[in-house]
Formats: sequence, structure tokens, C-alpha cells
Amino acid sequence: MASETESSVTAPRGLDPSAVAAFQAHLAQSKRIVAVIGAGLSASSGLATFRDSNGLWANHDVHLIATPAGWRRDPGLVWQFYSDRRRNALKAEPNPAHYALAELAKKKPGFVALSQNVDGLLQRAGLEDGYGNANANANNPQLKLLHGNLFDLVCANNCGYTEQNFKDPLCPVLSEENVENRANVMGAGIKDGEKPPKASALLFEAIAAKNKKILGENFKTSALSAADAAPLKERGEDAPKIPDTVPVLHSGIQPSDLMQCPGCNNSLLRPRVVWFGEALAQDLVEQVDAWFEEDKVDLCLVIGTSGSVWPAAGYAEQARKKGARVAYVNMRQEDMKRSQEGDWAFVGDAAIILPEILGS
Ligand SMILES: [Zn+2]
Repeated sequence: MASETESSVTAPRGLDPSAVAAFQAHLAQSKRIVAVIGAGLSASSGLATFRDSNGLWANHDVHLIATPAGWRRDPGLVWQFYSDRRRNALKAEPNPAHYALAELAKKKPGFVALSQNVDGLLQRAGLEDGYGNANANANNPQLKLLHGNLFDLVCANNCGYTEQNFKDPLCPVLSEENVENRANVMGAGIKDGEKPPKASALLFEAIAAKNKKILGENFKTSALSAADAAPLKERGEDAPKIPDTVPVLHSGIQPSDLMQCPGCNNSLLRPRVVWFGEALAQDLVEQVDAWFEEDKVDLCLVIGTSGSVWPAAGYAEQARKKGARVAYVNMRQEDMKRSQEGDWAFVGDAAIILPEILGS
């Protein structure tokens, strides 16, 4: 379900028929096409944002749930976050934009998709990411997952073990029920059950006060919820003093209850996603660079991502330097700031626009 801000975007207007015709004429002649894809592609599948739409994680500090430091601190909390995202992604369905891109990939062997999405929907629509596939294209698939995939697990200690896994829950402590119970416990001790952690009301108030300072008017003033009470920043000069005797919020999950690496038997498995502070996979970056080097580029599609932020901006510029014309497909006009004379800018939901302009 889309949040308030997502649903208030510009409703798709009728596309300018002459712009669509010009685009399609160019598309018909295009051989080497690159699509740079962001979260907006999955918007009408209900997976618009990094922080999923149910709000459970909305106020969590990304440092605690999507960084190597967060993983070292509490892998259980990180896994709770990713289990939730996996569950939402599994419930979602590919939308017509995913299928339109998969269709384009079949028609144009020179097409490559650079996706920042980890939700697996492009693959489910039929675009190969090469995972676990022994055919010749497997090592250089048309779909390049810049930020990884929620459904690939790897050894957290880099022993090289990797597997694809769609199971839910991945292990008993990550069941939906467990995650929600823990969220309640973390929220305000509402459920005074057996489940750790039991932090004091004082701690929750202190954290909520700190979050209020950070979030400003976005802070919800009603009764404390799990989201309000979650720590946004662990340190900071203006952080309220929390007595040392009070435990720091923690998932309470023991590493031994999480998925162990069968490769080395000496480490946990983690999701194969790129966390904040981590670099993109080197082999993937090299494949993309090689693709750009190989020949001129005819067309660049920038879909569902702001054209002014990396990596979309960088790849669009690279394509432009290789002669590509650029077409933006985005919900908001202001996300097309980088567009230049001669570009196409189609404003609206990718699920409506892409099938129309790609003629599928
Ligand atoms: Zn291992």
C-alpha cells in the first residue's frame, strides 16, 4: 500500500502522442539500450520505498538495520528487517512495467537493465539475473542487480558460500508472529510477556524524546509505538542521558538461532544486499563498465529513480557520452532535473507508461 506522500503524486496524464511516436521511432532503431531502474518501478506493486510501507521500520535508524556496523551490533535486528522486506516482496506481484521490461529484453539482445531494486520482481517477470544458471549468459546477464537481491543469502564471513532461498520464515525466530511480538515488546513494554528485551519506560521516553528532536514535525505525538521508541541515533551530544543500568534496545535474538553458513560452519548467512557503507560488487561494476566501453549506446531509460542522484545520474551521463538519447519515466517532474533538450520526460506511474511507450 502506498503511503500518503506516494499516493499524492501527480496522476498520470495522457502522454503527448507526438513525444511517444518520436520515442518509439528511436526505440525501433535502437540496439544498445540501458535502463537505470529505481524503487519507482515497483511503486504500483506496493513496494515503493526502502522502508517498507507497514511502518514498523519507518523510524529505525538505517545504521542499525542496513550497515556492517548494525550487523555486528545485532544481526537479529538486521534479519528482522530483511525478513519483513522479503515477506512484503513475496506478497507483491510484478506489475505491467516489470513485464514490459522483460519483453524488451527478449526483443533487444543489446538491452541491459541496471536495477537498484532488491525485491526480485523483475526476475519474477522473466528477466534473468543469471543467478544459479549454468548457461552462457549466466555470467553476464541482461539484468544487473546493483544492490543485490533479498532472496540471495551469502556467508557473512565471505567464505564464498551463497544460496537462493525464498523460504519464509527463514528460521523460527524470524517468523512474522515473532517479529511483531518483539516489536511490541520493544515498543513500550505493552506486552509484558516472556520475550526479551524488557526495556524500561524511562528508556523508551528518552529514546522517543531524542527521536522527536531528530524527526521534528514528522514525529508522531500520540502514544509511544515501536517505531517511535526505536533508537534513531546511538550517540549524539544532545542525546538524553540513559542510565547505564538500562539495557540498550536489542532484538534479543541469539546469533545461534539465525541461519548458519553451511560452507564454513563458522559464520552466519546474511542477505546479499549492498548495505550503506558498502561498495557495489566489483565484478558487476566491471561488467557494466565493459558494456559501456564496448560500443556506442542508442538509448538510456531512467525509470523510477531520481535522475539527479548516483548511480542513476552517473549511468545516464555515461550513456549520453556514448551517444544515447535519454528518456525519463518518473512520478514527479522534479525528479527529472537532469533532463536536457532532446530527452524525453514521461511523468506518471511506470506501470502505465512503460507498457505504452515500449509498445507491449
Ligand atoms: Zn561461510
